[in-house]
Amino acid sequence: MAPDLPRRSVLVGGLVLAGSFGGLVRPARALAAESPEIIGCDEWGARPNRDVIPVWNEPPIRIIVHHTATANVEDVSRAAADEVARLIQGFHMDRRGWIDTGQNFTISRGGFVLEGRHRSLEVLRSGRRHVEGAHCTGQNVVAVGIENEGTYTGEKPPDALWESLRATCAYICRQYEIRPTEIVGHRDFKDTACPGNALYGMLPTLRGEVAGVLGERLSGKDARRASWPLLRTDDRGAAVQAAQHLLRAVGMAAVRADGHFDARTTDAVRRFQTAHRTEEVNGMLGGESWPLLVTAEGGDPAEVELAVRALTPAKAVRASSLSGADDWLRLLDAAARRP
Ligand SMILES: [Zn+2]
Repeated sequence: MAPDLPRRSVLVGGLVLAGSFGGLVRPARALAAESPEIIGCDEWGARPNRDVIPVWNEPPIRIIVHHTATANVEDVSRAAADEVARLIQGFHMDRRGWIDTGQNFTISRGGFVLEGRHRSLEVLRSGRRHVEGAHCTGQNVVAVGIENEGTYTGEKPPDALWESLRATCAYICRQYEIRPTEIVGHRDFKDTACPGNALYGMLPTLRGEVAGVLGERLSGKDARRASWPLLRTDDRGAAVQAAQHLLRAVGMAAVRADGHFDARTTDAVRRFQTAHRTEEVNGMLGGESWPLLVTAEGGDPAEVELAVRALTPAKAVRASSLSGADDWLRLLDAAARRP
């Protein structure tokens, strides 16, 4: 474990930041009884972290749900949970070169909740500070990351995992006063399928159930957040056609705007990602590339207008009335829900 300095400085993105920030300080609350059992790093046999763990004196503002994209194993034992935590830590430290496990918490298929990155548990108990993880670039300082063991593209998570995820999210929300509507998926920020279509599709249910645990009510409508459609090779529809017009608008003239995410479209997205230095260059249009694409400067206005038209067949909206990424998000989300 890292030496426990009372006031540390951390090196983040090339800037030396003091460990203390002038923000809000709230009294610690005594709600530990409502925490699920969380297995600490010492208990699952974690290796020591390689460097000082950055701890911020600001509470996080959201929770990001991931899946590990590993096999949906049948072994639901505690030993299997410990093994998963060790495997992830080894992968993150040895292959990714990180200082420790990337996520703050891990939930096994058997429903065991484990601390991921060192100090995450102790800091969560404080209710005021946050351990910076490495699970979603750009969000690590403000979001708690939870990795759920398994691959949930088609298959739903087992009940034991689901119940632990709900309890863990509720505890985190309570500790930090995070709204359940701020439980989101990795794909909301990145061009990734994580946490899988099945688990991602269950997030409105999770928000509603977490609100219930907290003694609040969240309507189905409020539990559902607008999201960027995740588009990839062979997808079809209005959102694909809109994306194609937007790609043409920024000069990708080889793209045909026919609503089919074909090889040329995939190639154009890859080139767009390369030009914008997104984290992944994978030809998948998700939560990182969409906001860049809809706000790209200097695009051909006629193509942008056609993109809007593809999303609003009733011609009720004009491109000039859209003021930014949020307007596009709502338009795309509404189009995705249209039968
Ligand atoms: Zn993820």
